Order: sequence, then C-alpha cells, then structure tokens
Amino acid sequence: DKAQKAEPKRATPSTGEIEITHPERKAIPALNVTKQDVADYYSLVSAWLLPEIANRPLSVLRCPDGIHSACFFQKHAGKGWGEHIKSITIKEKNGSAEYLCIDDVLGLLELVQMNVLELHPWNTHARDLKRADRLVFDLDPHASVTWKRMVAAARILRKHLASIGLESFVRTSGGKGLHVVVPLRPTVAWAKVKAFAQAIAVAMSTLQPDEFVAVAGDKNRQGKIFIDWLRNTAGATSVASYSLRARDAGGVAMPLTWDELGKVKSGDAFTIRNVPARLQRRRGDPWAEFERIEQGLPKID
Ligand code: ATP
Ligand code: MN
Ligand code: MN
Repeated sequence: DKAQKAEPKRATPSTGEIEITHPERKAIPALNVTKQDVADYYSLVSAWLLPEIANRPLSVLRCPDGIHSACFFQKHAGKGWGEHIKSITIKEKNGSAEYLCIDDVLGLLELVQMNVLELHPWNTHARDLKRADRLVFDLDPHASVTWKRMVAAARILRKHLASIGLESFVRTSGGKGLHVVVPLRPTVAWAKVKAFAQAIAVAMSTLQPDEFVAVAGDKNRQGKIFIDWLRNTAGATSVASYSLRARDAGGVAMPLTWDELGKVKSGDAFTIRNVPARLQRRRGDPWAEFERIEQGLPKID
C-alpha cells in the first residue's frame, strides 16, 4: 500500500530568518496559543502545506489581536508585508488586480508576522488561472447533525464519485465539517467544474432529501447536511489542508485516509496542539496519491 510507506524526512525550516514581533501575543487565548506558536506550527507543517497553496491566489484570515477581536479576510497583499510575499495579476472587468500569493516558507512566515491565522487558496494555479485543478465538496452540517452522519455523508459522496470514475480524498475542515476533494488533471474550465459540482449535490439531495440539501441558507439546512458546491467557482476559496482555524478549539484542516475517517471524532479533532505528534506518528502522507492521479470530469458525447 503506497500510502503506508515511510514518510520521507522533511526538513523543518527555522523561523529565525523572519522576525516575528510580539511573539508572546495571544492568538488563541483559550489554548494559550501565541503568535510564536503559530509561526512554529506553520514552520513545522510547511513541507505539506506549501504544495497546497504555493503559486495560487491566496485569501488569508488575519486576526491582529487574536481570534476574539476583529478578524478579516484579505485577498490582496498589503504594502510592506515582506519581500517573500508575491502577487498574481488577474484580469477583471475594469482592468486587473494583484492577488496575494506566496511560494515558500519565508512568505508563509511573513504572513504569520502579519497575524495571518487561516490560509484559503483558490482551486487554481497561477500557470492556468482559467481552469481548476481540484474540486471541493464542503460538507456543512446543521447544528443537529451527528458526526456519524457526517462520516456517512462523506463516504456516500465518495461512492457516487467513484461510480463515475473519480477518486476523491477526505479531510477535516478544522471547524465543524469535512471536505471531499477531487483532483483534476488535466485541469477543467470553471464553468464545467461548477456545473458538475452542483449536479452531484442536487442529485444527492434528490436521492436522500432528509439527509442532504444543495441550496444554501440556514432555513433549508434544518437537520440536514448542506453539500456546499459553491466552493467551485472562479475566485471562490476553501481552507487549505494543514491550515489552522481561528476558533477556540485551535482546529486544523487535516487530510485523512478513507480508512481512518471512522476513527475521527469531529471536524476539529486535529488541532495545533496534537498535530505535531500526529505528523511524527503517521506512516505516510494520507494524500500521497493526490498529485499523481490523472482524471478529468466525465465527457458527455
Ligand atoms: P466548517 O467545517 O466549519 O464549515 P469551513 O472552512 O468549511 O469550516 P465554511 O463556512 O463552510 O467553513 O466556508 C467555506 C469557505 O468559504 C471557507 O473555508 C472560506 O475559504 C470561504 N469563506 C467563508 N467566508 C469567507 C469570507 N468572508 N471571505 C472569503 N472567503 C470566505
Ligand atoms: Mn464547511
Ligand atoms: Mn460551506
């Protein structure tokens, strides 16, 4: 089993090259997580995280005074953020705009210095911005939905995708839910990705209307799991694997193997506190195959 082979040793870069000011400042007070802890965490996971976000437009969630004060999403780089913070020019209706982008651990740490806690890439790469290279189904539970139903939902979605020849991967969101992610190689035009994601969500909610809903809005979600397919439009983001979440539990979005999903207890079971030990312990990258799979959306002739 390829996923079980020994994990290659990945060097942990030193945070020393980038100055972290106010290292003692509390980012997640409930867990005593400081800005320095966040820098150390991102440094530790950078070898796995960077392939998820490097050279993609990146939205970030900044919490300058910790998660209990104002946090805000930002998609453009600020002035003076650091020499390793790059940008991607994207054409828009009226001219073009510069979107935030990084490609190495120094850029990642410069983001931490700017009090970034969460990382949300687009599902597209700088070299091919008109097309998506992955599709994300974001399973969002209503408050009344049990975790057991979430696990079942992810497995059903995997089965539907497999029945049309698509392999998929699962991760915790670090928050309440699970994400099922489908690699697309060669890449696929946004309009097709969006239509396909919607069609799957609508089919699932039609087949199991008590379990699933494909329409956003709290009113529709009562007792159900919203299959959020809207992550799959140009410019939409979803949280990166290994991103920390700005929530009290200190959850982390964690890639899993399908086999271990049944052992996981919640969307925020993996946290900044327990992920370092998990990375030491695990026998391989659970998503090792993700970058190797070649699959596109089914063609209808
Ligand atoms: P959970 O499991 O708790 O639902 P999640 O990351 O899936 O965690 P959602 O609320 O489902 O959170 O949001 C899905 C994604 O939409 C986010 O991960 C983020 O990338 C994007 N998003 C949400 N709010 C904003 C915002 N204000 N600005 C930009 N992107 C946002
Ligand atoms: Mn979600
Ligand atoms: Mn959602």
